[in-house]
Amino acid sequence: MPQEQLAAPSLLDPRKFRDPEVTATGERRAVVALTRLRMLWFNTGSLCNITCHNCYMDSSPLNDRLAYISAAEVRRYLDEAFGAGWGVEEIGFTGGEPFMNPEICEMLGDVMGRGWRALVLTNAMLPMHHRRDALLALKERFGDKLTLRVSIDHHTRDKHEAIRGPGTWPPMLEGLRWLAENGFRLAVAGRTCWGGGEIESRRCYAALFAEHDIPVDADDPAVLVLFPEMDAAADVPEITVHCWDILGVPPETMMCATSRMVVKRKSAAVPVVVPCTLLPYDRRFELGEDLGVSAKAISLNHPHCAKFCVLGGASCSPGR
Ligand code: SF4
Ligand code: SF4
Repeated sequence: MPQEQLAAPSLLDPRKFRDPEVTATGERRAVVALTRLRMLWFNTGSLCNITCHNCYMDSSPLNDRLAYISAAEVRRYLDEAFGAGWGVEEIGFTGGEPFMNPEICEMLGDVMGRGWRALVLTNAMLPMHHRRDALLALKERFGDKLTLRVSIDHHTRDKHEAIRGPGTWPPMLEGLRWLAENGFRLAVAGRTCWGGGEIESRRCYAALFAEHDIPVDADDPAVLVLFPEMDAAADVPEITVHCWDILGVPPETMMCATSRMVVKRKSAAVPVVVPCTLLPYDRRFELGEDLGVSAKAISLNHPHCAKFCVLGGASCSPGR
């Protein structure tokens, strides 16, 4: 359940992000090597129960460009990850809304049954409410191995609903409170797009959590993840091999240095691996059908690489 606000850059110089090897100015484009597969993501499907303003997945009740991945398909990747000793620590599920996938709880059981932690990005609304019994059973069996990261775009109802639509706050809050009351391990994803500063934002989220008895430490950036705003209308620089030193950003901190995501395209016979959660649709970033062949260096040949990862400093992973 992605929360980051990214959109197609309308003013982007059309000469940029064309050649995976070199930038528009002829410099060598930056690449990111896979250092370790710490986190393996599955996109459960692009359908969502709501339509958020500027959802970078364009998820909605109508967008089925990414099909529901099946538990059997997920199992094949779990087998590969387990057998190859990749050092995977956590398996993430994102969408769309993951709880709309009919086999999500079976997948979670498979993941945690092999000893991995599982993370689900959810809007905590009706699709999750429908899985309460199965979630309680997973909680009983696996305890804190399961984390649910709930999107609360803003700590006020008005601004949250400005992004998510009228009436989206009460079911989210009900879902969040239900998770808290039942002892689920929680994280929250918010946005900083309204300004006011991160410290003030965390203080206001903390007040919201205190009011509703939500055990989330708003001062911990690993459990209250605040995503930066992206200026969709702006041009964005390309990242060259020199940028790492100039910007002081190590390539190992990019999500694609430690992650991969599996997606199942509509009507495709089999799923495919892509570098990260941010590029589910761009076929230039397809790395192959299994994890083994996906362990190659990624050329930062997409505006999101610059805007969201290198310059935005954001990460989709919650860390620990
Ligand atoms: S709730 Fe659905 S529409 Fe909203 S950001 Fe998440 S995936 Fe996109
Ligand atoms: S969007 Fe970010 S994580 Fe994805 S390939 Fe580009 S730099 Fe890597």
